[in-house]
Amino acid sequence: MLASDAAFAKAATVFYGGDDTIPAAVAYARDLDDVVVAVRHARENDLEIAVRGGGHSPARHGLTDGGLVLDVSGLDSMSVDPDTRTATAGAGLTAGAYTASAAEHGLATGFGDTGTVSIGGITVAGGAGFLSRASGLTIDNLLRAQVVTADGDVVEASEREHPDLFWALRGGGGNFGVVTELTFRLHPVAKVTGGMLVLPATADIIRGFAAAAEAAPRSLSAVSTAMIAPPMPFLPPELHGTAVLLSFMCDSGDAAAAPAVYQPFRDLGGVLADMIAPIPYPQMFPPEGNAGAPAPIVALSTAMVDSIDSVADAVVGALANPIGAMQAFQFRILGGAVRDMPHEATAYAHRDRLIMANAVVAVTDRDELPQAWARVNGLTAHLADGQGAY
Ligand SMILES: Cc1cc2nc3c(=O)[nH]c(=O)nc-3n(C[C@H](O)[C@H](O)[C@H](O)COP(=O)(O)OP(=O)(O)OC[C@H]3O[C@@H](n4cnc5c(N)ncnc54)[C@H](O)[C@@H]3O)c2cc1C
Repeated sequence: MLASDAAFAKAATVFYGGDDTIPAAVAYARDLDDVVVAVRHARENDLEIAVRGGGHSPARHGLTDGGLVLDVSGLDSMSVDPDTRTATAGAGLTAGAYTASAAEHGLATGFGDTGTVSIGGITVAGGAGFLSRASGLTIDNLLRAQVVTADGDVVEASEREHPDLFWALRGGGGNFGVVTELTFRLHPVAKVTGGMLVLPATADIIRGFAAAAEAAPRSLSAVSTAMIAPPMPFLPPELHGTAVLLSFMCDSGDAAAAPAVYQPFRDLGGVLADMIAPIPYPQMFPPEGNAGAPAPIVALSTAMVDSIDSVADAVVGALANPIGAMQAFQFRILGGAVRDMPHEATAYAHRDRLIMANAVVAVTDRDELPQAWARVNGLTAHLADGQGAY
């Protein structure tokens, strides 16, 4: 698709808004051959390539100014082998679609907390989500990848074939070729005990939640966001606009043990909403709305740390004086199975860090970004031992 095409403006967007990055063309690959043709064309015409899967890169790496966007979202095949507990899928398949297909067999591979990211994109990032403490990062369950190299050659990457490429793909970012197909290990995960728990966002509760999540059994993973409560229907109106700690929690262990797993979190006190229940695992990924809404413009910074205690007071202070269209501080406690894999076994650089934390401010106008970045950087500065970038 070229700039002269009526649909080009929409085709040249990603999840986040930002600067005007206008590619020369967008190529939609439907199969492996299309990817090979696109890579060779870009090479022969000296065009930079941006591979785009789900388009969720916060740095907007799914676009390139004047280059070729190679959109692989059409590579969305999926086959499950329940006997070997493996699944092979196109790299452009979304995590939500993969999860739904695997669930038909009572099986799952862990991705992130959002169903619309592509499995290829989250794999080259690392992949931390609702099953990470139980069965590792997404990359820890990757068995093989089919890759189109910058030469336009098709290669297999696994522990046995091109092991250096296999190492790099697992958390090294989208720099090593176009991943076209992935094979993952599956785990038996039919029902989980999970859902949303909403607590007041006080500094004590933020610190207490992090401590409880670290002490919890591996079967539990949680993604917690301190934010101003939007008008969610399950919260009484008087809580809308107040500072809450909204956690999506997933316990993939024995359902009978789940009440004990969750008790330390409920004991933090002041529970505002408790929607934790036995659910099929795919329900951890609720439908995502806002189709047609403008792409959010964000200042977003991620830090890999061992504690968030030092930032809790600042988070609460910032929520007392929110800026932008939305402001949030999110954290997830990792550890567990994430640490079973040796640090040097994959390109993922943060395995030794216990917590993935990020601060974000969304704005409606790019002119507001300096103020948003000041707020974000002001918060992450409290994370003294933070290593940036995910
Ligand atoms: C709302 C939201 C929630 C998120 N939640 C989580 C989470 O819970 N856990 C987590 O780990 N991450 C999370 N992320 C981060 C996300 O997983 C990564 O940014 C991921 O790389 C996005 O993949 P994508 O294909 O959707 O994005 P894209 O922007 O299309 O791609 C991201 C990067 O991967 C490269 N890439 C994509 N596909 C391929 C491919 N087939 N071959 C080679 N390179 C490729 C791109 O070139 C780009 O550099 C979240 C991001 C957002 C916006």
